[in-house]
Amino acid sequence: MTGVISGFGTIAFSTNQMMGLYATGYYYGGYGYGYLSYLIFMLPALVLGLYAQAKVKHTFSKYSHITNSRHMTGEQMARMVLDRNGLSYVRIEHISGSLTDHYDPKDHVIRLSSSVYDSTSIGAIGVAAHEAGHAVQHAEEYTPIRLRNAILPACNFGSNAGPVLIMIGCLFAGNTLGRSLIFFGILLFSMVALFQLVTLPVEFDASARAMTVIRESGMFTDGDVTGARKVLKAAAMTYVAALISSIMQILYYISRYLAGGRRRK
Ligand SMILES: [Zn+2]
Repeated sequence: MTGVISGFGTIAFSTNQMMGLYATGYYYGGYGYGYLSYLIFMLPALVLGLYAQAKVKHTFSKYSHITNSRHMTGEQMARMVLDRNGLSYVRIEHISGSLTDHYDPKDHVIRLSSSVYDSTSIGAIGVAAHEAGHAVQHAEEYTPIRLRNAILPACNFGSNAGPVLIMIGCLFAGNTLGRSLIFFGILLFSMVALFQLVTLPVEFDASARAMTVIRESGMFTDGDVTGARKVLKAAAMTYVAALISSIMQILYYISRYLAGGRRRK
């Protein structure tokens, strides 16, 4: 689960997926079958998720070694996007780690990692412009951002309570109480997918804003533009993969729920 603040392209598999693995072990037929069928069901999504993570790391690594034609740092890039949108009050700070770049709307701070902040690479300007794009979204009260903030508490609750409810329900599997608990657990857990769904337009829009500034500034070569776009595209893929994974998990829960219902008759 991610909060309002999330690292650049680093949404992968939450603890919920692990919780699900644990919970489904209890589900009808004991550990062996539960784990195996869960793995078979989740494997494509897992592979896609791992691929997306590897792809964003690889693409960023490649373009973090190619200097942009302007020799502009990530910090300067973010500043340019902010100033062009009248956001001089938004600060830019340095943060440790890799791909930890994010915008913090509470403190009005963009935090950029070492490979972005004072790097003059193509990857750095792409990531920096993207994070600045998030700052612009918040300032403009971009609708998907407002929607995401509105559902965030419910989603956080659902992501934690859903798997717990499913697990408890599994202990009482076979009776009405157990089935009700599992049903509401699935419903609550579905909030995670809803959050991830609303995250997609937020992420795609931040990248679109970034690319518009990079392109329309007229300061960069086609090579710079293409490279930055590839980095941002790879990052967007991780969010799509996370959503697919959650949907698969929900479908798995539903299929087991329905199978349990049939078995009772
Ligand atoms: Zn983002």
